[in-house]
Amino acid sequence: MSEYSFFGAVEKSFDRAAKFTTWDPGILEQIKQCNSVYRMHFPVKIGDRIEVIKAYRVQHSHHKTPCKGGIRFATSVNLDEVMALAALMTYKCAIVNVPFGGAKGGISIDPKKYTAYDLEKITRRYTSELIKKNFIGPGTDVPAPDYGTGEREMAWILDTYLSMRPGEVDALGCVTGKPITQGGVRGRREATGLGVFYGLREVCNMPDVMEKLGMTTGVEGKRIVVQGLGNVGYHSAKFFQEAGAKVIALAEYEGAIYSEKGFDIDAVFQHRKKTGSILNFPGAKNFDKSADALEAECDILIPAALENVINGDNAERINAKIIGEAANGPLTPEADEVLIKKGVLVVPDMYLNAGGVTVSYFEWLKNLSHVRYGRMEKRFTENLNTNILGQMEYLTGKKVGTKAREAIMHGPEEADLVYSGLEETMISATREIMEMWKSNPAIPDMRTAAYVVAINKVGTAYAELGIFP
Ligand code: GLU
Repeated sequence: MSEYSFFGAVEKSFDRAAKFTTWDPGILEQIKQCNSVYRMHFPVKIGDRIEVIKAYRVQHSHHKTPCKGGIRFATSVNLDEVMALAALMTYKCAIVNVPFGGAKGGISIDPKKYTAYDLEKITRRYTSELIKKNFIGPGTDVPAPDYGTGEREMAWILDTYLSMRPGEVDALGCVTGKPITQGGVRGRREATGLGVFYGLREVCNMPDVMEKLGMTTGVEGKRIVVQGLGNVGYHSAKFFQEAGAKVIALAEYEGAIYSEKGFDIDAVFQHRKKTGSILNFPGAKNFDKSADALEAECDILIPAALENVINGDNAERINAKIIGEAANGPLTPEADEVLIKKGVLVVPDMYLNAGGVTVSYFEWLKNLSHVRYGRMEKRFTENLNTNILGQMEYLTGKKVGTKAREAIMHGPEEADLVYSGLEETMISATREIMEMWKSNPAIPDMRTAAYVVAINKVGTAYAELGIFP
């Protein structure tokens, strides 16, 4: 297993990349550190006993504000993990040009062991602790979902904030990943998985990259393995399936399933919901050990659950040509070294899973503008397109078919705009990182190239803002 802490692993990747930059060592040191660390304990009444809950919020960087990052509920949450995840958020936001500093929060609990009522109490109490210390707000620090949390928790956070800050006009922007009915944005739920898909599709569309890996260009027909069927894994798998790839193995903590034919993701999801397990899916082979699926022979392996799943112990047995890090930190530095030697292309987490925070940014902008995307221009665009089409038909004397007519006339709705904004973001980021990698052949891997891009952007912010004398 890894001898490094998670934050240590992030620092190690940072140091490796820093060598390819020209920043002053002091600036590099400042970028690397976590600026503010808030560790808290608070009591919550669970049934007739009082439980002391341990929780954190770390703001890694203030080179841009607000700070941004999810809140995780898991027993494994600890300070080292939250610091590492907050740092990754800084680099992630920089790479996809989301103008936020990185942050992360976590509560050290197993959410499955609590009722919804108790979870609500814990979430509200955590939020009020953040408010007391000014660690939340649309201009200071904006949480979002992460492992173990979702729209429901974000709505509780919003409601607690609203009740303690009545009349604050931009209050809706204090948290993202909210239900659509509470100021959320369409497309946020699937955003991370969709971003993973857009990013990997762009890599697969690069002929030189694919040739080096001995693969054909394009996503169609690629054999995919996905570990973790949570929000991110489920949506990544689904978008690959829709694009004509074959998802041949799916892993969850109870085990994994394999089928050379490829799975229908929704059918597997329903099966798991009905039977309580991914195993025994009709026509599929069971793997008792979930980790065995990671070693299955495939084109693209997508770890989409927790950190450190590919490490010094199993990296040698990985049989994928590309690894798409949908989770945060699924590979340890030892695994990275082994995989570089094996010629596997590792598409790094801090850019590949940035779809979530990118769409969070869109949600935050929506909250500050107080208007749904598309509301102002949808009808206008449709009327304009109707007129253009009418003129074309009049001038040519020919009629456009029904399907083409619908496509041409369609004015943008919120989901259309969010999807296209995300697609543009992921494609540009992929190209920027690849360009960096190509421009400096000494850069050993894509992760290092991504860090160099991120360090340069954060470094520029510090250099231009100046350091207080
Ligand atoms: N928790 C997600 C991440 O790790 C999303 C963060 C956000 O939307 O602020 O990127």
